Amino acid sequence: KKRNPNESEFHQAVKEVFESLIPVLAKKPEYIQHAILERIVEPERVISFRVPWVDDQGNIKVNRGFRVQYNSAIGPYKGGLRFHPSVNASIIKFLGFEQIFKNSLTGQPIGGGKGGSDFDPKGKSDGEIMRFCQSFMTELSKYIGPDTDVPAGDIGVGSKEIGFLFGQYKKMRGGFEAGVLTGKGIGYGGSLARKEATGYGTVYFVEEMLQDRNLSFEGSTVVVSGSGNVSIYAMEKAMQLGAKVVACSDSNGYIYDGNGINLETVKRIKEVEKQRISAYVTDHPQAIYTENCNGIWTVPCDIALPCATQNEIDQASAELLVSNGVKAIGEGANMPSTLEAVEVFLENNVLFAPAKAANAGGVSVSALEMAQNSARLSWAFEEVDSKLHAIMKNIYQNSKKAAQEYGAPGNLVVGANIAGFVKVADAMIEQGVI
Ligand code: NDP
Repeated sequence: KKRNPNESEFHQAVKEVFESLIPVLAKKPEYIQHAILERIVEPERVISFRVPWVDDQGNIKVNRGFRVQYNSAIGPYKGGLRFHPSVNASIIKFLGFEQIFKNSLTGQPIGGGKGGSDFDPKGKSDGEIMRFCQSFMTELSKYIGPDTDVPAGDIGVGSKEIGFLFGQYKKMRGGFEAGVLTGKGIGYGGSLARKEATGYGTVYFVEEMLQDRNLSFEGSTVVVSGSGNVSIYAMEKAMQLGAKVVACSDSNGYIYDGNGINLETVKRIKEVEKQRISAYVTDHPQAIYTENCNGIWTVPCDIALPCATQNEIDQASAELLVSNGVKAIGEGANMPSTLEAVEVFLENNVLFAPAKAANAGGVSVSALEMAQNSARLSWAFEEVDSKLHAIMKNIYQNSKKAAQEYGAPGNLVVGANIAGFVKVADAMIEQGVI
């Protein structure tokens, strides 16, 4: 905390991982001898840069860009870019730190990184977004590459922004290096099923967890926060598996539809019209819109999938979910539950799928996109989806096994942290003190 003052999200992410590792350090003293914790917590490189751009009125604006190249022990840095006004060093470092273990869990050869900017894409014209992305990439292009560091999307960065970023990278480098970014458009090197991957993957993971208690999505009532990329495709897969999704949200408020959310309406409002979720009630007058997005956790459900942002479920919301009978939580967003909220779920025997395992489907398919780019091939949707499904099952089994092996059976927080850590730590030891 002394070395990284005022970085509360970063401290939170590190605390959770390091507490999980206590039994590992007791069993494997070589990690202490090789100072793995001291090394793994320090990013290999942090880049912070000026992003000047000109708005539609001709005013010069300045934002701050970040890229944290956290750990390359098992592969090139890999992790998304977030454009949101709340972005700062703490947010990017917590996301980058989590990414190390998540990427390791996928079983693919990818290191950990994350980046972004405090730029707010809301209310900006396409021209403004393009000029911002071009300025951002003019600087970032010096530090990334298909074998070095491969960014992707995250909050506020979808296929439109990736397109502008890719165009500028190509212009700066003078060659078509498809593998430098993932989440690209299908026509120029993107992978089918990447858009769906994080949401679908979260549901595949939760399905495995439910099966262990003879539960399933079929006939369950589900609440999914957010209405962005992860949320929409988590809702879609949950519905395909027979669940009734009754609520979703955006940063202003949430909608409740007792008949079950109409996903086509949500997609139209969010993906096409770029409107607020409150517009849903115009088409569906039986639905109720309520201001204040955190109120979504008052809605009774069997399964809750937080898919919006960090710390969206605090202790009070967790207690409310438990008292309303929730059976399982699947984290689609990164670190959506506070440490206190996680305690509440675990103490009450609620099945809990932690983010770095449950939302690893997005980066898994990004790595499959890199593989397709290297091979100059594109796989069918079904092929990518079935690989994703197999990866999520594997992450579940590995996390479950690690939890059992280290004395915390059923605790997937501990299991995912340990299973992700060991591979990276061993690679760091084998590569010497670097
Ligand atoms: P999007 O930008 O597509 O959607 C984000 C959603 O969350 C929107 O509904 C947004 O509402 C809401 N939201 C964002 N910030 C806040 C906030 N501070 N308070 C309340 N609601 C908020 O992002 P994604 O769906 O891509 O990302 C969602 C989460 O999933 C993030 O935690 C991200 O890190 C994580 N994730 C994403 C992956 C991916 O592949 N995209 C992969 C792995 C994890 P509004 O429109 O009002 O801003």
